[in-house]
Amino acid sequence: MKLMNGLDGVALGPGDTGYDEARSGVQRTYLHRPSVIVRAEGVADVVRAVRHAVEHGLAVAVQATGHGLNVPTEGGVLIDTSRMSGVRVDPAARTAWAGAGTRWEKVIDAAGEHGLAPLSGSSPDVGVVGYILSGGLGLLSRTFGYAADHVRRIEVVTADGECATVAPGDDLFWALRGGGGNFGVVTGIEFDLFPVDRLFGGGLYFDTDLLPAVFRTYREWTATVPDSMGSSIGLIPMPDVPAVPAPLRGRHLAHVRIAYVGTVQNGERLVEPLRALGPRIVDTLGEMPFTASGTIHNEPKQPRNFLCTNAMLSEFDAAAPDAILDLVGPGSGVFGVVQVNHLGGVLPRPPEVANAVGHRDASHVLRLVTLPQGPGRDAAHETADRVIGAVKPWTVGRAPGFVQGDQGAAELARECYEPAAFERLAALKAVHDAGNTFSCNVNIPPSDTTVRRDAHVT
Ligand SMILES: Cc1cc2nc3c(=O)[nH]c(=O)nc-3n(C[C@H](O)[C@H](O)[C@H](O)COP(=O)(O)OP(=O)(O)OC[C@H]3O[C@@H](n4cnc5c(N)ncnc54)[C@H](O)[C@@H]3O)c2cc1C
Repeated sequence: MKLMNGLDGVALGPGDTGYDEARSGVQRTYLHRPSVIVRAEGVADVVRAVRHAVEHGLAVAVQATGHGLNVPTEGGVLIDTSRMSGVRVDPAARTAWAGAGTRWEKVIDAAGEHGLAPLSGSSPDVGVVGYILSGGLGLLSRTFGYAADHVRRIEVVTADGECATVAPGDDLFWALRGGGGNFGVVTGIEFDLFPVDRLFGGGLYFDTDLLPAVFRTYREWTATVPDSMGSSIGLIPMPDVPAVPAPLRGRHLAHVRIAYVGTVQNGERLVEPLRALGPRIVDTLGEMPFTASGTIHNEPKQPRNFLCTNAMLSEFDAAAPDAILDLVGPGSGVFGVVQVNHLGGVLPRPPEVANAVGHRDASHVLRLVTLPQGPGRDAAHETADRVIGAVKPWTVGRAPGFVQGDQGAAELARECYEPAAFERLAALKAVHDAGNTFSCNVNIPPSDTTVRRDAHVT
């Protein structure tokens, strides 16, 4: 493409071979429709793409994997970072450096060679940078904190088209860690690794008849466990199709996921009240290397349609499980995958170097995944609204990382942060991106500036 001479990677416009493949990530309901896609090979390509966007008044969207797409670009510049997927581990310093497009899987494997683990989440397929910028709630986060709490430095291309490295003491270092993609295109990030070689982990899969009891007991159980016990529960209506393993097919499952940093003996003892609820269809709990941690949640890798929303809860009240089950439980006739993650542990503690991550005091986060039929608002959105409405009495806000699908509502970003942090983020946005070039995200509008989302080539 003429517009983008001098790239190491390629630039693709609508109609070019590879355009559709490059704009399509994991999320398939809501696709970017950029005027140009830059398949970046390195920092210089990102710089060129950002300068091009700013010169032409276009919005910039970034895609590494497409797991977190929430505001698709219409006519802007899409920077595809998937080829910038390098990893370097420094075992002595216990740190890793990952490129913009690196998936967790690569870091987990490289760190595992040295008996170390990152603060990765449920799916090793998710991108490192998008995850950390949104906070990053990991399998080990109750023990060690948010991934954003353990970043050493960040290399970022800002709206002035310059590449900078930011570290503790820089305003942008505070804002990027939790502020998502609002402040630039991150080209690389350095973060801590932890000496966790092995885990007691896996999943307990209970059948439909036990689901309500498991959900209620899980709520009570989370109040009793030590910080080293990480867990979540998923309530999953499994489709009745051959691709699903026979014992799980067509069932509405309760899937309790465990990641415990401790001995097998203690782990076994801690999960006793859950196992005592009854037979499991599948029980994979046991000792495992951290490199196998992706099997705990066992999330699908294939591209798919989904809409994901969430509520950060001050408490997982006794009334909440039944309120949720009435709306999307077995027999409700309404499709929705419910997930509740246990927070707490060290998460409420302020990190050594402050960042923008909000709602640290939340005790649990409720996530809901529904299946929209197309890009417009439909029954999937209504289900999401109803479930989120049902937990309103205990909702303190949202987590920006668990907002996926077409959810660009202006008020959403405000709900992701403490009020003072939001004001500071908006003020920093006005300084670093007054034109809101980086708007295809959970968007923080620059203070006193109009939000622009739909820039088109003229
Ligand atoms: C199956 C699944 C499991 C998940 N599990 C967890 C979990 O356990 N814990 C958790 O905290 N989150 C989890 N998430 C949420 C996930 O961390 C966010 O959606 C994250 O934004 C995904 O980043 P990505 O690069 O993979 O996705 P992408 O869609 O490629 O990027 C998402 C957004 O991140 C920003 N971004 C990405 N790369 C850059 C960059 N280089 N510079 C600036 N901005 C950038 C952009 O705003 C972009 O729109 C999960 C999501 C899914 C779909």
